[in-house]
Amino acid sequence: MAARDILIIPDKRLRLKSEPVKAIDKSLRALIDDMFETMYAAPGIGLAAIQIGVPKRVIIMDLAKKDEPKQPQVFINAEVIWASEDKATYEEGCLSIPEYYEEVTRPKTVKVRFFDTDLKPQEIEAEGLLATCLQHEIDHINGVLFIDHISKLKRDMVMKKFKKAAKKTDGAKPLSEDQEPSHHIG
Ligand SMILES: [Zn+2]
Repeated sequence: MAARDILIIPDKRLRLKSEPVKAIDKSLRALIDDMFETMYAAPGIGLAAIQIGVPKRVIIMDLAKKDEPKQPQVFINAEVIWASEDKATYEEGCLSIPEYYEEVTRPKTVKVRFFDTDLKPQEIEAEGLLATCLQHEIDHINGVLFIDHISKLKRDMVMKKFKKAAKKTDGAKPLSEDQEPSHHIG
């Protein structure tokens, strides 16, 4: 297992539509292990495989609070099959857009179909943080970022800032050490 580098905008790979997983083999299990290591190290509460440069429809999550035991969850080939008309607004952040937080309005409740690590089909109805996180991560495997849900003005400002930072550091991560990571959804 090894923590891997997380792609940061404006990396174009974050805009790829990820491919469905067809089999759970050794390399996929290794990918999932690396994803957990990367997410816990960041730290974040969710991660999509494309965020470490692998365009496969794999999402991991752990919504446990600091003092709770770990609750690792894996969602393979996840898709939203129903969304409520009711909306909810939460402040979101993203490991691929470090240190930027903005309120995003999404459906309050969603039904999600996915496969577990035995490739058995599962369905869940989610609300609250789980609903937000699932929608955020499913966006990732479709090449969508949370900043696509905010105003164009704000999005342009963020993109500009990160493009400038990428140029200055030649692609290195523009992270500071005293960042407050608790809102990083993934
Ligand atoms: Zn994200």
